[in-house]
Amino acid sequence: MAKIVIALGGNALGNDLKEQDSALTHSATIIASLIKQGHDVLITHGNGPQVGKIHQVMNTQMEIPLYVSVAMSQGYIGFDLTRKLQHAFSSLGMNVPVDYVLTMVEVDADDPAFQHPTKPIGGFMDEATAAILIKEGIPVVEDSGRGYRRVVASPKPKHITNLASIQDALKQHHVVVCAGGGGIPVVSSEQGYVGVEAVIDKDSASALLAKELDVDVLFILTAVEKVAVYYGTPQQQWLSSMSIEETKRFISEGHFAPGSMLPKVEAALSFVSGAKNKTTIITLLDKASEALKGETGTRIVSD
Ligand code: ADP
Ligand code: MG
Repeated sequence: MAKIVIALGGNALGNDLKEQDSALTHSATIIASLIKQGHDVLITHGNGPQVGKIHQVMNTQMEIPLYVSVAMSQGYIGFDLTRKLQHAFSSLGMNVPVDYVLTMVEVDADDPAFQHPTKPIGGFMDEATAAILIKEGIPVVEDSGRGYRRVVASPKPKHITNLASIQDALKQHHVVVCAGGGGIPVVSSEQGYVGVEAVIDKDSASALLAKELDVDVLFILTAVEKVAVYYGTPQQQWLSSMSIEETKRFISEGHFAPGSMLPKVEAALSFVSGAKNKTTIITLLDKASEALKGETGTRIVSD
């Protein structure tokens, strides 16, 4: 029995509301089966495609800041995830309360990331559309050979502001849905917390949550069964485990694409480095149960 932070990636959420409905039914069923094994679980999720779409559409009607779009994405994904989990538990005859915690995450107002946007959001566009946005001063980058996407500032998460509520729920063995979309980015001011124009990386926020709560496992569920070196080339090699030293070396050799696999292995490093008995597992949602038993996935373990 372990305490686990599960970070759900885009493929666990679907691309529109209809897809989200069936994707989350599936995700909730898998998560419920892990909880049935006796683990205490917190669930975080991404919001890259969703927050980009919300922001784009809302701004055709009225000007809204990016952090409001993050809050909206956290709310509607959290709503669906919570009710799907409740349904999955009752289908399995389990009585497990699900607590949704709207989560604000504090960042540093001076974080250099505000000057260098790196986080891809929204859908993909072609080169010509990208050129038009760039002309308007909107930063756009090529995303891992899949097309062009808008990028926004992604400052480092410093503090999960709702940690006490999350901790209380976990102590009572409730399942907690929190830190969705990396959390709503805020800075501390004389007026209390105020939102800032950014989207925090969900893998990074999940690692901070996992550290602050001293959980055993950071479980990153994504679109690949394992992490690879020489990914997408004829030399590609899937890895079952990486030591901290190997992970650092592979990062410096450029094996992990920024904006996709790099934030995951960096999250893994930040969670397990300098700690005892901590494990990060990166795998497919559908392989979660096998990966937890050590049968697949990529493990990065504390020394
Ligand atoms: P998520 O929504 O789960 O955060 P991402 O698309 O951001 O998913 O990241 C997962 C993707 O990272 C994989 O689908 C794969 O295309 C890409 N990737 C980049 N480098 C690697 C690598 N070295 N090994 C495995 N996958 C990689
Ligand atoms: Mg991602």
